[in-house]
Amino acid sequence: MKSIGIIGGSGVYSPDFIENTEEVVVKTDFGEVPLIKGVLKGRTVYFLTRHGKRHTVPPHLVNYRANIMALHLMGVERIVATAAVGSINKDFPPGTFVILDQFLDFTKSRVETFFSEGKVVHTDCTDPYCPEISLIIKEAMEQFGYKYHFGGTYVATEGPRFETRAEIKAYGILGGDVVGMTGVPEIVLAKELGMCYASIAVVTNFAAGISKTMLSHGEVIDKMKELNGQIRNILSYVIPKIPDQRHCDCSKAPTSG
Ligand SMILES: [Zn+2]
Repeated sequence: MKSIGIIGGSGVYSPDFIENTEEVVVKTDFGEVPLIKGVLKGRTVYFLTRHGKRHTVPPHLVNYRANIMALHLMGVERIVATAAVGSINKDFPPGTFVILDQFLDFTKSRVETFFSEGKVVHTDCTDPYCPEISLIIKEAMEQFGYKYHFGGTYVATEGPRFETRAEIKAYGILGGDVVGMTGVPEIVLAKELGMCYASIAVVTNFAAGISKTMLSHGEVIDKMKELNGQIRNILSYVIPKIPDQRHCDCSKAPTSG
């Protein structure tokens, strides 16, 4: 059975739902990446904390290429990520899970590709999130009776600052449902390597101008703590149900000319 990658975002730091854990440090061309290897209901998983073990790496400085390459080098073909997000859509209140199906990219300074020289690769991103894993996540939501939306557009911003009221209004007009700072280029890099990537966005607050109060990271972390048990339940349900053989087209996304 192939291993599954889990990327824990803000508020998901401890892989305490995984057994027989050991730290492995993977050397990549982009730097070393510490991963937690373990077993979840019989399935080997590699757990990665996106912001580092103690949440010390800000969104714009995350070594996305090293992280994705490290999982790839461990034989991971399929990634399930979590992302704490602010909500632009009034129908997605705090405490809602959003199974993402689209993104809008407003990041500015990040390296978004593995293919900058020597080889020209274009990657299909029409429907970037893996449909097969997304359906299993939906099944988990139904199973546990959690509040969720199947499908939602993630707006990726540069950070680390939060957005202005005008930016959030604009993103809403453009079709954005939730906003976060890390989903891109993470998913793009995974797709470039033909990997499946699905994301469980966790709404922790309403975004700027919709929220009645000022935004703070403390608010995000408090909400994530509150939902931690639910996130563990979802991952523990989803990971063992991911089929070993893929029935999606994710592996065909990158094409070279
Ligand atoms: Zn897939």
